[in-house]
Amino acid sequence: MKFCLPYFLILILFLAAPCAAQSDNVSVGIDITLPFQTVKFQALSGNWKVNLYPLTPGTQKASSTERIFGNINKEKVTEYIVPGEDVSLLLVAKGIVARVSSEKDVDKGFDSVILEGGDLISIEIPETEPMIMEGVIQIDNHDTTLSIINRLSLEQFVVSSASVFGNVSSEIEAVKAYVIVARTKLRYLKENNKHLNELYEICNTPHCMPFKGCGANRQMVSLLADQTFDKVITYNGKIINPRFHHTCGGKISSAKSVYGVDNEPYHPSHNDLKGSEGSENCFHSPAFHWTAEFAKFDFMDFIAVAYAGGIQNFYVAFEPETVDENGRITHMLFRGKAPLFLPGYDFANRAHKHFGYNSLKSMRFNVTEMKRSFLFKGMGKGDGVGMCLYGCDGLAKKGMKAEDIIAFYYPGTRVEEIPAE
Ligand SMILES: [Zn+2]
Ligand SMILES: [Zn+2]
Repeated sequence: MKFCLPYFLILILFLAAPCAAQSDNVSVGIDITLPFQTVKFQALSGNWKVNLYPLTPGTQKASSTERIFGNINKEKVTEYIVPGEDVSLLLVAKGIVARVSSEKDVDKGFDSVILEGGDLISIEIPETEPMIMEGVIQIDNHDTTLSIINRLSLEQFVVSSASVFGNVSSEIEAVKAYVIVARTKLRYLKENNKHLNELYEICNTPHCMPFKGCGANRQMVSLLADQTFDKVITYNGKIINPRFHHTCGGKISSAKSVYGVDNEPYHPSHNDLKGSEGSENCFHSPAFHWTAEFAKFDFMDFIAVAYAGGIQNFYVAFEPETVDENGRITHMLFRGKAPLFLPGYDFANRAHKHFGYNSLKSMRFNVTEMKRSFLFKGMGKGDGVGMCLYGCDGLAKKGMKAEDIIAFYYPGTRVEEIPAE
């Protein structure tokens, strides 16, 4: 009897392994707001299998929730590309057609394409920066646009995402903190799926997490991800939603004041200051102070496009309505044919979409009306809630350890080792 238990356990471990591997993956919707009809893949390493799935005649087009990675139950056509070879996919009236290494056309008209089996592949969508990806890639036909989903392991995603948003620091303790924040955020988003009606669990727009494939991966991030494996941030034993931003400008706002949420006590308002003296932790950030000038016409055009369906002069003036104790505008008021009261974060998000991320860097600003323009003078970049990424770098430079930095930005939390389920 004594020997039975260990053998039994070993058997269980073997049986459990494939299931564990499944949930260790994440499916990422890539650039989901961008319409595109052509995409080119070039194999960089490993041999890639290109499976093309036709739309079965007489059947309804599969909805995105019916399309399950690798489980599409239709007759498929398989092509292979080796390093140096490529496949271009083009969306036409009959579906997706493919051209393999500019010689072979596969032009039946397909509904989905899955690329898998290789190590690295480059992806080019016209007018966007090329990306390098790993894992499994699925392209779907949505009639007017194609879509791309990348499925990869949780840790691969953590390394790629932290390499992108964490590129503000090379301090070991800061990067370690970024990795733990990235892992926590990813686990939180998987547990609280905001894309339930899609095949992907998270997207790479500001809605979820930054991700540009593995081409931007930094070796240091990868090493520190191994070193902090399974470490996540918890509050009362539950994985938190760790918010973070580029630069706070010296003052961090609460999630309650910026987003109106009541259930994130670990996102309070506080100064980004170590002790009571010295300079702010993010004082060295290029976005600590900023100015931006917009021609009046351009700015009112943005308001018309973003809030009045393009109707000019529907709103004729804007002003801050509520400002929190840190000087962050939490609500804006537009005056005109009918007044509009809107959250500050919404105003910032739409300004970013319209003018780009380096325009209106934060909602901590004063605006002066000039003759032909509006002059904004502001502090910080991003929403100012949770971890200030530049401040994290500053604290690491002041000798603080990753776990203490995390406790500073997410008070009341703990860093715990919790294996992915
Ligand atoms: Zn999303
Ligand atoms: Zn800061």
